[in-house]
Amino acid sequence: MQVIALSPNWNEKDQAPCIPYEYETAVMHSGGVPFVLPMTDSKAVARRALEAADALLLSGGVDIVPSLYGEETLPCCGIQYPQRDKLEEMLFHLALERRMPILAICRGMQMVNVCQGGTLYQDIAEQSGSTLSHPRHDAPRDCVHDVSIVPGTLLRQVLGVDTLPVNSRHHQAVWKLGKGLKVSAWAPDGIPEAMEFEDDYPMLCTQWHPENIEDKYPLHRRIFEWLMRACSQA
Ligand code: MN
Repeated sequence: MQVIALSPNWNEKDQAPCIPYEYETAVMHSGGVPFVLPMTDSKAVARRALEAADALLLSGGVDIVPSLYGEETLPCCGIQYPQRDKLEEMLFHLALERRMPILAICRGMQMVNVCQGGTLYQDIAEQSGSTLSHPRHDAPRDCVHDVSIVPGTLLRQVLGVDTLPVNSRHHQAVWKLGKGLKVSAWAPDGIPEAMEFEDDYPMLCTQWHPENIEDKYPLHRRIFEWLMRACSQA
């Protein structure tokens, strides 16, 4: 069984690393073993923890500190947790060194873009002019908009469809694309909804949350099944 390391969220009230359970169940449904990484600023600890895993899953969560992509924090930006930004930047680079497969979800996709020098919309509605509602926190397990999958991408190969209905609970998104990255799915309003590397590196990034819907919509489970296969091939 493949071991999948999950980046943790931080619960300020309880001073506790935590992660929504569906990240774990989605991994287990596809035959993997999830474990939540420690909240640490030690590279040695992060490196050793990743050595115990076959793949890295960068999970969703709070907003990324805008100074990491060279911007002032605007009033429309949400809460941030700088220690998590530092941890995930470290994890991402350590994973690349080892050519570990990466699945990056929501904030995870945004983190990958920032690590590669890209920028974010601090708030889609405020900055992009889009009228499509992406922060549908009222419907985490419903598909609320479609995405168009770009032909010839890893995502297209994994899912085998050109259009996919997705859930959407994000108010930020990728704006300027980082180095070596390409968009592999678009929302109807032109917001990037999936991303991968231009080369054949085993990484998928989704702006939506497949872990919330993979039990209800089997196509989304293929993303986790791909992650398991990518572990065996790495
Ligand atoms: Mn969306």
